[in-house]
Amino acid sequence: MELLPAFSLQRPETAEEAARLLSGEAQARVLAGGTGLVANLRLGLAAPELLVSLERLAGMRDIGDEDGAVRFGAGVTLARLAADAKIAARFPALAQAAAAVAGPAHRSAATLGGNLCLDTRCVYYNQGESWRAANGYCLKYRGEICHVAPQGKRCHAAYSGDLAPALMVLGAEAQIAGPAGARRTPLADLYREDGARHLTLGRGEFLLALRVPVPAPGSRSGYRKSRARGAIDFPLAGVAAAVRMEGDKVRELRLALTGTNSCPLLLAGAGELAGQPLDAALLERVAKLVQRQASPQRTTVVSANYRRQVAAALAKRLVSELALKR
Ligand SMILES: Cc1cc2nc3c(=O)[nH]c(=O)nc-3n(C[C@H](O)[C@H](O)[C@H](O)COP(=O)(O)OP(=O)(O)OC[C@H]3O[C@@H](n4cnc5c(N)ncnc54)[C@H](O)[C@@H]3O)c2cc1C
Ligand code: SF4
Repeated sequence: MELLPAFSLQRPETAEEAARLLSGEAQARVLAGGTGLVANLRLGLAAPELLVSLERLAGMRDIGDEDGAVRFGAGVTLARLAADAKIAARFPALAQAAAAVAGPAHRSAATLGGNLCLDTRCVYYNQGESWRAANGYCLKYRGEICHVAPQGKRCHAAYSGDLAPALMVLGAEAQIAGPAGARRTPLADLYREDGARHLTLGRGEFLLALRVPVPAPGSRSGYRKSRARGAIDFPLAGVAAAVRMEGDKVRELRLALTGTNSCPLLLAGAGELAGQPLDAALLERVAKLVQRQASPQRTTVVSANYRRQVAAALAKRLVSELALKR
């Protein structure tokens, strides 16, 4: 670990001022709970001269009902998301994902916005400066080639935030502020499949809030992850599902993944399984969807194939549990 680089910290009171500060300095970064960012700064993975805390902006830490949906400020902590009984009842996938992040001390500081905007991860990147220097750095930061896919031109570092897939299956919309004002977008559009530039935020833009529609009666959702250390670890693969049944048939199904690609993925084709009975054939189709769209690379100490297989197994188990729940 390195010493923290020198930086100045600003705490603007309005979104306009925050956008002005962030767009005025190319390397400026938002600081939320700091549990992801500060660890990366200590590894020497960035040296921004300006950090901008959004904690003084109105509504950042609020949770409130809003026309058939719930608005979550980006500064709401994961501990609160995991502990609130009303959230667990309405949005089980979100509460379960928040409870599965890191350890209790991290969750008490870590925020929704910081989790969604977390940097991607790779065994060749999340290392100290001397380790990376000895290996000639890599494409993502300061280097020329990717050690995972040396023939390729893009970084395959894995997106490993737990909350994004849960919010995607719940149909969340991101509220973004920036120099041009505010805009809204489906959460999936916040991401692109590129480990070095996985967020689609423009210069000076930041996440203000998430808007999550209240699920239809009878909807069920959940989140499961596989990790190397059960008590505290990033997902090797994580799966969220939202299911609505009609008798013994699936009426609605949404599935999303994390840990396997450079961005969280809302799986294409899950909706086409609607109308099918919950049986072994349907669960096999769920597994196939996951296996085809998950694209793990050699970015963790665990093999890519294991992560693909475990994602499929988690998805089958989760869909079956949710569908059979009384
Ligand atoms: C030991 C350890 C274990 C961990 N395990 C997990 C895990 O299991 N699962 C998991 O998901 N994470 C894990 N993390 C990472 C991290 O703790 C969490 O993802 C946390 O939710 C990050 O939130 P934060 O508020 O601390 O973000 P910060 O660290 O403050 O920020 C993270 C990134 O998001 C950006 N950012 C923050 N807020 C905004 C915003 N509103 N708009 C735009 N950009 C923003 C920052 O600039 C930074 O790039 C772990 C970290 C550690 C150190
Ligand atoms: S996937 Fe390649 S470019 Fe990206 S962090 Fe890993 S080694 Fe670096």
